[in-house]
Amino acid sequence: MKRDRIGRNDDPLERALQLRVILASGAVGVMVIAHLTHPYVGYSDLRMVVAALEFAGAIVALLLLLFGAPHSLRALRERREDAERAHAERKQINHLFRMTEMLQSANGYGDANAVLGATIESLLPGFGGALYVFNNSRDRLELSATWHWPDNDPLRPVIAPAQCWALKRGKFHLNAGVRGALCCEHHVGRATVLELPMSAHGEIQGMLKIATNLPDASAQLAQAQPLATAIADAMSLAVSNIALREKLRTQALRDPLTGLYNRRYMEDALTRFAGLAERSGGHLSAIMIDLDHFKKVNDEFGHAMGDAILREAAAAIMGTLRTSDVACRYGGEELLVILPECGLSEATSKAELLRERIEALSTTYETTISASFGVAAIPDSTRVLADLLSLADTALYQAKEGGRNRVVAAHGRDLAPIPIAAE
Ligand code: GH3
Ligand code: MG
Ligand code: MG
Repeated sequence: MKRDRIGRNDDPLERALQLRVILASGAVGVMVIAHLTHPYVGYSDLRMVVAALEFAGAIVALLLLLFGAPHSLRALRERREDAERAHAERKQINHLFRMTEMLQSANGYGDANAVLGATIESLLPGFGGALYVFNNSRDRLELSATWHWPDNDPLRPVIAPAQCWALKRGKFHLNAGVRGALCCEHHVGRATVLELPMSAHGEIQGMLKIATNLPDASAQLAQAQPLATAIADAMSLAVSNIALREKLRTQALRDPLTGLYNRRYMEDALTRFAGLAERSGGHLSAIMIDLDHFKKVNDEFGHAMGDAILREAAAAIMGTLRTSDVACRYGGEELLVILPECGLSEATSKAELLRERIEALSTTYETTISASFGVAAIPDSTRVLADLLSLADTALYQAKEGGRNRVVAAHGRDLAPIPIAAE
């Protein structure tokens, strides 16, 4: 209740009610006094005045009751509805604050999706939701998570930005399956879907979809749109931060030119794999790779083409390995592959396959492209981890000496490396 400086109530509704109560009380008071004094008044003129006062009091009280009461009741009902609405909005704002706070602690997309799912469930009950985020190359959006999406309604796993009105305009868009409605190209299924682009740091990070199959779907979604927009805004910052963290993590682990792991990561991985091999008595192999006459390639065709060849060679290597294998850029045009649970002969065959793949790039670039390979393994070549890479390097040197474009395996400390394949 608001009061002015001298303590008077300045709420118009309450003042109107007070006035009506005072007037009604006055009218009833006049009526009662007139009624009580009526028998004792002697003069007939005065008695008529008292009777008129009694009648007027009754009329005023009746009028106030007839016209004032419904109006006051309606005003009070509206007041209660406003208070309930404000309470619901406060609850929603509190929920959004909690969601934002939880999202700040999200460790990855999995955590963020769980928070978003719980928020949509409690703030937009009865609606389905789906979250799309941009892939690394930002040429398409990939489905990241769904919640209570309408049954039997398909969802595309990938969306091209050019197919989506919400993304093209950077504004929310309603895909309703009614005649004359403008639908996105990617829209499938019968549910009506509200699409909200999610932007943060001046870039669109992804898209939130809210869907329903209710008969008055468009109206329901229009009503839910402000809240859905607030959820999308809170989520977009989180998606952007997660993407940024992911990028930094990748940059810390990977070489930017080839996308292979960097040397620091390789050293950690090698120690880890060696520990496992030692405990289980298993094998661990290393393949050292060096592109042949790469300086000449750079000199003849330029550094840009040299870079492209390096990237292609790395891709050829990656495409040949198991997911548990680790390929890294050891330095310059030297690459290293670590193969856990792989013996010397298997690693040598793998190196031969890699050699063929790299040699095959010669056709694409219309020049001779090849690499030399040195292979060493624990326990076949040595039992000491510290010797593994130096043995692979020695074998690689032998391959270079032997004429390049070949694989040499280190068969043990006391054995000279034996050439496996030659030009
Ligand atoms: P070899 O067969 O004996 O290995 O000859 P090579 O010319 O490959 O050997 P060298 O070590 O003399 O030269 C390596 C060359 O690799 C020199 C360097 O310019 C090139 N190189 C190293 N890193 C990169 C890179 O990131 N991009 C490009 N384009 N070239 C690189
Ligand atoms: Mg080299
Ligand atoms: Mg080289």
